[in-house]
Amino acid sequence: MTEQPPHDCPLCPRLVAYRDANRAEHPDWFNGPVPSFGPQDAWLLVVGMAPGVRGANRTGRPFTGDHAGILLYETLLKSGLAQGTYRADPADGLSLHGCRIANAVRCVPPANLPTPGEAATCNRFLQAELAGLPRLRAVLALGVLAHAAVLRAFQVRLSACKFAHGAHHALPGGLVLADSYHVSRYNTSTRRLTTEMFESVVAGLAATFPPSS
Ligand code: SF4
Repeated sequence: MTEQPPHDCPLCPRLVAYRDANRAEHPDWFNGPVPSFGPQDAWLLVVGMAPGVRGANRTGRPFTGDHAGILLYETLLKSGLAQGTYRADPADGLSLHGCRIANAVRCVPPANLPTPGEAATCNRFLQAELAGLPRLRAVLALGVLAHAAVLRAFQVRLSACKFAHGAHHALPGGLVLADSYHVSRYNTSTRRLTTEMFESVVAGLAATFPPSS
């Protein structure tokens, strides 16, 4: 098991205050650092930015419950990296195969935007996540913040690997970092990221690293 933050992780005061406010207003929500989802023998780690307040922060599963999960999970299902049916509910029975999902920042940030300091503080848990996946071959960063967090976790300078949708970068240990625009409602509704664009990124990774490799 990889190290996970405690449900009351105290390290980011602004996020703790937001968590407390959400707990007071919505005591039935998860309202804590959202744990990663997927098997420990994954070859692919998908890294998002942070939980959405009514998505993973509410349900407790990454990308579950808000718009962003639709394209992500439907694409993983099409690529054979997930099985079942995505119903935006952690009880939907959906399972991941060869793939795991984490967030660069585990707690929901106000206005959906973590500060650089919060991303830096939470990076210890992303580092632990990466170190705890013995069969890891590739990391898929959803958006610039996730890209930067993965580079930080590997102590690679941001200037050495510029974010670009569809790009692959070499990471220490023979791993590959792939970039995609985030699967957010904004990006998909503006068609900055289309279904075809995202499917192409995931299918390309699945073809490069087949399950038996
Ligand atoms: S974002 Fe990460 S480091 Fe900050 S309080 Fe949440 S779990 Fe802790």
